Amino acid sequence: MYYEDTLDTSRQYLRLALERLGKYGLPTDPLNYCVWYEYASGRNEALNACLDAHVEGNGHFSADMLRQLYNQHIIGHTEAVSNRVREELKKVFAEIIGAIKTTRQNFSTSENNLESINDALVPHLPEADVENLVNRIKDEIKCLESSSSAFREQLQQATREIDQLKLKMARYRKEALKDPLTRIANRRGFTDALKLAIQKSEASKSALCLIIADIDHFKKINDTHGHLVGDNVLRMVAATIKESVKGRDLVARIGGEEFAVLLPDTPLEGAVKLGENMRRTFNELDLKKKNSGESLGQVTLSFGVTLYQPDETAEAFIQRADKALYASKENGRNRVTCF
Ligand code: GH3
Ligand code: MG
Ligand code: MG
Repeated sequence: MYYEDTLDTSRQYLRLALERLGKYGLPTDPLNYCVWYEYASGRNEALNACLDAHVEGNGHFSADMLRQLYNQHIIGHTEAVSNRVREELKKVFAEIIGAIKTTRQNFSTSENNLESINDALVPHLPEADVENLVNRIKDEIKCLESSSSAFREQLQQATREIDQLKLKMARYRKEALKDPLTRIANRRGFTDALKLAIQKSEASKSALCLIIADIDHFKKINDTHGHLVGDNVLRMVAATIKESVKGRDLVARIGGEEFAVLLPDTPLEGAVKLGENMRRTFNELDLKKKNSGESLGQVTLSFGVTLYQPDETAEAFIQRADKALYASKENGRNRVTCF
C-alpha cells in the first residue's frame, strides 16, 4: 500500500482508527488497524460502504470478517490491481503462443500430407487413384482453411482482450492521479499537469497562472464538529472551486486542506479576479451540517496567486504562490495576495 498522508493527517486517521477499534472491541493488530485507518481516510469508497452497512446492521465485527474486508478491499484495491492486469496480460500472451503452436503443427501436418500426395501422383496412375488423390487434396485444403480461420479467431479474441486490458490500465492510471476523498486531482495529478502546462506556456509564450488556496483555521472545524464533518467541508470546497473555473483549468487537492488551481492562457489580473471571486463565494456561503442542518459558521479560505516566469522551475513557481498564500495568512486570512 502507498500512503501520501502528512504527519497531521495520518495522526487524525490513527486517532479515528483507534476510536473505532475500541468501540467495536477489536484487538489493535496491524490488519484491524489498517482496515479502520483506510476507513478514516475515506479513500476507499467500497470499503467504507461495506463497513457503514455493517455498522447499521448488527455492528458486530469478527476477526474473520475484517480479514475478508482487508483482502477484498485493501489488497484488492492497490497492488493486486496492477498485478491482476499483469497476470491477465500473461494469460493473453500464453493464448496467442498456444494458438501459434497449434496452427504451426496443423500446417506442418498438412504440408507432409500434401507432399506425400504429390509423391503418389506418378505418371500413368489409374484414373480412380487420381480421383482418390484429388479428394485427399481437397480434404487437406479444408483442414488448412479451418486451422487458419481458427487462428484468425484466436487472434481477434486476443486483440479484444488486449483492448480491454488497455482500457483497464488507463482507468487505473487515471485513478492514481485522483484524490479519493474529493474526486479532484491529487498532488501527483497536479505535478503532472503543471509540467505539461509549463511546457505549453514556454512553447506558445502564453501566460500561465497558479492559485494556491488553504482553508482558514480548518483544524478548528475538525476539533469542533469532528473529522467526518471536516471531510465533508473538504468535498464541498473542492466542488465549489471546481465550479468557479473553466473546464481547461485544473483543480487539485495538493495537501490536507490545501488546493491548487492551474490557469493556462490567463493573465495575472484574470487570476487575481478569479481568486477574489472564489474568496467572496466562500465568505458568503453559509455551510450547514448535512444531518442536523446546524450551521458550521463561516468557512473562509486564503489565496496566493502568481504568474509563471519564463525558464523558472515548477518548484520556484509553486514556492512563489505558497509565499503569497503565506502573506495572506499573515495579514489576517480570508484574502488574496498576488506575487
Ligand atoms: P490556517 O488558517 O493557518 O491554515 O490553520 P489551519 O487550522 O487550517 O491549518 P493547520 O495546518 O494548523 O491544520 C490543518 C488541519 O487540517 C489539520 C488536519 O487535521 C486537517 N486535515 C488535513 N487533512 C484532512 C482530511 O483529509 N480530513 C480532515 N477532516 N481534516 C484534515
Ligand atoms: Mg489551513
Ligand atoms: Mg494547510
